[in-house]
Amino acid sequence: MENGEELEKAEAETGNFVFEEIKKEISEGGRVEGCEVHTRFPPEPNGYLHIGHAKAICVDFGAAKKFGGKCNLRMDDTNPSKEDVEYVDSIKEDVKWLGFDWGDRFYYASDYFDVMFENACKLIEKGLAYVCEQTPEEVKKNRGDAKTPAVSPYRDRPISESMDLFKRMKNGEFPDGKMTLRAKIDLSSGNFNMRDPVIYRINHAHHHRTGDKWCIYPMYDYAHPIEDIVEGITHSLCTLEFEDHRPLYDWVVNNFECSVKPRQIEFARLNINNTVMSKRKLRKLVEEGYVDGWDDPRLPTIGGLRRRGYTPASIRNFCDRIGVSKVISTVEYSFLEHCLRDDLNLTATRAMAVLDPVKLVITNYPEGKTEELEIENNPNDESAGTRKITFSREVYIERDDFMEEPPKKYFRLFVGNEVRLKSAYVVKCTGFKKDENGNISEIYAEYDPDSKGGNPKDGRKIKGTIHWVDVNTAADATINLYENLFTSANPDSEEDFMSVLNPESLKVLKNCKLESALRNAKLGDSYQFMRKGYFCLDKNSKENNLIFNRSVGLKDSFKPKK
Ligand code: ATP
Ligand code: MG
Repeated sequence: MENGEELEKAEAETGNFVFEEIKKEISEGGRVEGCEVHTRFPPEPNGYLHIGHAKAICVDFGAAKKFGGKCNLRMDDTNPSKEDVEYVDSIKEDVKWLGFDWGDRFYYASDYFDVMFENACKLIEKGLAYVCEQTPEEVKKNRGDAKTPAVSPYRDRPISESMDLFKRMKNGEFPDGKMTLRAKIDLSSGNFNMRDPVIYRINHAHHHRTGDKWCIYPMYDYAHPIEDIVEGITHSLCTLEFEDHRPLYDWVVNNFECSVKPRQIEFARLNINNTVMSKRKLRKLVEEGYVDGWDDPRLPTIGGLRRRGYTPASIRNFCDRIGVSKVISTVEYSFLEHCLRDDLNLTATRAMAVLDPVKLVITNYPEGKTEELEIENNPNDESAGTRKITFSREVYIERDDFMEEPPKKYFRLFVGNEVRLKSAYVVKCTGFKKDENGNISEIYAEYDPDSKGGNPKDGRKIKGTIHWVDVNTAADATINLYENLFTSANPDSEEDFMSVLNPESLKVLKNCKLESALRNAKLGDSYQFMRKGYFCLDKNSKENNLIFNRSVGLKDSFKPKK
């Protein structure tokens, strides 16, 4: 990268305030001086992980890694109606693929339902929780406003009455919505989350792990701190929308006996332009068939990015470079692509592929002859070695590498002009043929036998170099090219995000010709197709039906802000 230095400066190197906080806390005199840092990543298993989750994963697992601590993987399955084993499996796969390890610390929040229930009983006994029989409408009407405190008519009922009703709630004596358990905190708090929040509700629903054992379920704000305490979490890292909930988090922690109190720290979530990340929106795209499953290469899901050819290192690098702060911002999609290019440029094997082929016949090359030529695998990495490619009388070249009437400064093929066939020979165009529709069907050229490898012996200058594939050994392939899934930079701000879906986000090229070695391409490997971008094998590719996806083009469109 020539402008690398400039980029380094501009790439929102905001640092990571969460790591700084943690460092302070474990240092001498800190809140948890000398403690082992223990974090968790707590996804709700109701969808596939996306690049936003990757940021959270890099913060949670990254903190543990940085400070030599631990990070748990915890399924936040306190909500009974939405869970699915398929999601649990995919979450594990994605976290592992990103390069993080939870060891033997894989947990379900629902494993702590008993602890949560017992603690709720203790809160009632201590006069810190009560059963409320208002209807949801009454609660809403009585919640007060900035100047008026809330009204809660059941607040001062006897402890024994609340205890009796709570146990009967648990035993299934009441229908959904009939009553709730509320924490007794502060009806006049300026923070509405503290105005005696509901901590348990009745929900006669089957839970995929606890079955029909429970018909009361804890609310997130009550459940989450207890999950953290039970697992010995020191730092509960989450996104900014929980900031207003932190007093309640602390209230629950302070009313629970524990040796190390977890601290919640919030950071800004990741937003990227030209895409959507909400599970609801992603689900709509998948379920209504606008994309090819949760791992469609156009989606910002981890599975989609993987199928697109993103490497774990490029995603981790992206997450590190955008930094962690409290400032809400939107990151350019092109920066994600920039990070991918950075990685692939060093690691991807080079290959030749013709996406829009036309035949070039080298009329002075002997018929039936085939030569083997040597070509480097990666000009940036000598250790990647070389490979053999075949050359013969007929090769495929890109249709747009020939012009009947070339403009000025066109250095590729036109009648009378010389061009270098990459690592092969210099050829001079002598003519072409058109089919009945007027399309060019064949191009003719003569080669210079004294230019093997691409440089003429007499030292004359050849301006253009084009890629090619030997007709005799070429592999047929389908290639998928992608554009943004949305035409609007911010689809979330549209009244209907579906109205800005890009009808041209996928272009399928059916008749591509690849150099023979690509028949042996492996899933997960990346290739740079010379002059065309970075590509990877698609999961649906078969030996007799090769399919490649373009991960990203060669041209970097990321412009750092000055
Ligand atoms: P969504 O809003 O996409 O449905 P969610 O927040 O409901 O996501 P969870 O499964 O609860 O999804 O998320 C697990 C963790 O990932 C949470 O700690 C959450 O804060 C974090 N997370 C989710 N989206 C983002 C994002 N865009 N950027 C950073 N962290 C995120
Ligand atoms: Mg959530």
